[in-house]
Amino acid sequence: MKTKLRTDIRIKDICEGFVYSELEGAGLFGLAGTLTIQPEYQRNYIYAAGRRDVAVINSILKSYPIGLIYFNKVDDKNFEVLDGQQRITSIGRFVTNRFAIRDENGMQQYFSALASDKQDLILQTKLLIYECEGTESEIKEWFKTVNIAGVPLKDQELLNAVYSGPFVTVAKEEFSNSQNANIQMWTAYIAGSVNRQDFLECALRWVSKGNINDYMSRHRYDDNINELKAYFNSVIDWISAVFKDVKPEMRGLEWGKFYEKHKKQPFDRQEVSAKVEALYEDPYVRNKRGIFEYILDGSNKAKLLNVRVFDEATKRSVYAKQTREAQEKGISNCPLCAIGHDANKTKIWSRQEMEADHVTAWSKGGSSDIANCEMLCVTHNRAKGNK
Ligand SMILES: [Zn+2]
Repeated sequence: MKTKLRTDIRIKDICEGFVYSELEGAGLFGLAGTLTIQPEYQRNYIYAAGRRDVAVINSILKSYPIGLIYFNKVDDKNFEVLDGQQRITSIGRFVTNRFAIRDENGMQQYFSALASDKQDLILQTKLLIYECEGTESEIKEWFKTVNIAGVPLKDQELLNAVYSGPFVTVAKEEFSNSQNANIQMWTAYIAGSVNRQDFLECALRWVSKGNINDYMSRHRYDDNINELKAYFNSVIDWISAVFKDVKPEMRGLEWGKFYEKHKKQPFDRQEVSAKVEALYEDPYVRNKRGIFEYILDGSNKAKLLNVRVFDEATKRSVYAKQTREAQEKGISNCPLCAIGHDANKTKIWSRQEMEADHVTAWSKGGSSDIANCEMLCVTHNRAKGNK
């Protein structure tokens, strides 16, 4: 089977003459009639619609790769989709106003209502398409392999192919080379496999602030990786300057973002280390991976630590006691309602209408046992915040 990577086909081209069948819930034709989106051997392919449709469009708007698409070359002029039917159908349906996405303000937006630069961004996006040529049985065999046993290419492996050139060659020598003596140290902070390009992807994500595609395209013909390497090393140096100890939970955290956000803040390495140890030993801290961001962020977002909450038995018993005492006094069983001045002053809330609150917040040393538990009405509990 012959294959050829095409990077010249735009969404605009694919959507030209897009035909969609409501009955079958699938796109039928595109590329001005030369592309069959749903060939015979894919007839029973049912995809989940809804969220995934929207996700495809949002990815395109953020310039994220939507993965590789495979076309079968039927003859000189005609193609059929081997793999990518759902993605192409989503794109075609969106561009023909069959579903809406939500914008930054949560408003529904159909394609025709998008700002013209966004419309353009979508239409001018080039898809990564492998054009395959082979006999029908070769194609069918291949289709089965890819969908059943195939190991899909990772995005970064794909990008390396698309932007192949001197930059990728040098970058792989540094970041995809298991002989590199630094890998051992990097593994403390970076998750994934060197061979499958996870370290290179991480380095590129950090330096490009998430716009890997763009970065690789701009540097494709550079013969050095000086900037990439310098940035990567400053992130690694910064982590080891702030955090004395290496913990397994540090692997794969968003260090690039942490670095950008906190690189100008001074940290006392000894003090940070003591905080880390204390949180590791705190039985209320359930998410140890959150400890590092929690400390960097000023130790006030307890949410990051997923602090242990009160158990059901504790809540039930505190509710019963508070309600009994409130009824005796003729006041609300929410202590904050009881001291208020509105109609809720004497309201007895049901168990479902109340939530447990730490009298002394966990962040100020309060524990999650019965003595530190009080039930508040939902409104008052949510208003109280810092928990
Ligand atoms: Zn209340």
